[in-house]
Amino acid sequence: MRRKPRLYIADERAIKSGEATDVYFLRAKKILDNISASATRVVAEVHSYGFPNGYEWAVFTGLEEVVYLLEGLPVDLYAMPEGTVFRAMEPVARIEGAYGDFGVFEPAILGMLRHSTSVSTKAARVKLAANGKPVLFFGIRCIHPAISPMVDRAAYLGGCDAVSGVAGAVMLELEPTGTMPHALMLVLGDEKKAWKLFHEVMPENVPRIALVDTFYDERVEALEAAETLGKNLYGVRLDTPSSRRGNIRKIVQEVRWTLDIHGHRHVKIFVSGGLDEKNVMELVDLVDGFGVGTSIAFPPSIDLALDIVEKNGKPLSKRGKLPGGKQVYRCENLHDTVVPWGRVVERCGVCGGRVEPLLKQVLSRGEIVSDLPDAKEIRERVLGQLEKLVSADASRWGPVFIG
Ligand code: ZN
Repeated sequence: MRRKPRLYIADERAIKSGEATDVYFLRAKKILDNISASATRVVAEVHSYGFPNGYEWAVFTGLEEVVYLLEGLPVDLYAMPEGTVFRAMEPVARIEGAYGDFGVFEPAILGMLRHSTSVSTKAARVKLAANGKPVLFFGIRCIHPAISPMVDRAAYLGGCDAVSGVAGAVMLELEPTGTMPHALMLVLGDEKKAWKLFHEVMPENVPRIALVDTFYDERVEALEAAETLGKNLYGVRLDTPSSRRGNIRKIVQEVRWTLDIHGHRHVKIFVSGGLDEKNVMELVDLVDGFGVGTSIAFPPSIDLALDIVEKNGKPLSKRGKLPGGKQVYRCENLHDTVVPWGRVVERCGVCGGRVEPLLKQVLSRGEIVSDLPDAKEIRERVLGQLEKLVSADASRWGPVFIG
């Protein structure tokens, strides 16, 4: 008898073997195997038909996992570099091979790319709203722990400055970041005692950020914290839930004013609890940093689809999709031109600048043929593009399709 699972997670073996798939792909494979058609050569592309909530761009991440998923299979993979800002209808990845060799991996490929891309895109939007101020990702409590490192990675790649998750931070070679939970004050029954002990016990490199909304008003506790820890206090964190908060902007203004008039100008103010890009934007001039969880961990979905666009070298597609493989050329102002695969473009049709092809080969017959950048490098790439999106207002430019 099959043992009842203790954790409902697909492990690496189940994913890599193709067991973590939808049954209809197994059925399709069986039928094609039956008439020896599994070797049919196809080209499949991953792209989005459209973004949620009027988004004009998204941040492509999750590629590294897909590379390791397909490594060793007799397929070629081309993709935009991880951390590329892309637009709807642009191919972000291209797989060439016998359909029978990779078809069953469609749900795993899309799941990895969609989830990661959705998280990274939201993280990028929040980071843009924060206007250069730190955004810390505190969101692993919203998701199953089995995938918390993946979500930490996606949030970090999208632009978050740090993550609170320990397992994720270890995998990313980062220091996990955090302050103190309400539980510490509640267990000790005294907020001043909690802050003092935090200062005594924590190593010097941990910033002293006191959580100031456990028992009393934020303004009262913020001043108490500053008087308790003096110059050692780096900042205060307000984590007031939206149900209690009223006008958070007014509360932050009150806390800032109170700290300032008592000579505690050095004390920074951090806000967390139910934030998204809208309220980050509303507070950004008053606040020194943000802790963001649910809105990034549970973002609107950037839907990605995997569609066959060529069979035995001939263009074809289902309805609503442009047949034939495509390449995306981009200039330094982030203007994109989409052309049939194999056609070479040298100049941007919008600004005349030089262009580069975005889809580059990552796997050749299952062998990794390009360097996989580390998380820091990918994040820098994202931040560089976000800056351009703002300064050149390039977000307005949809891709130009030249057939
Ligand atoms: Zn251009």
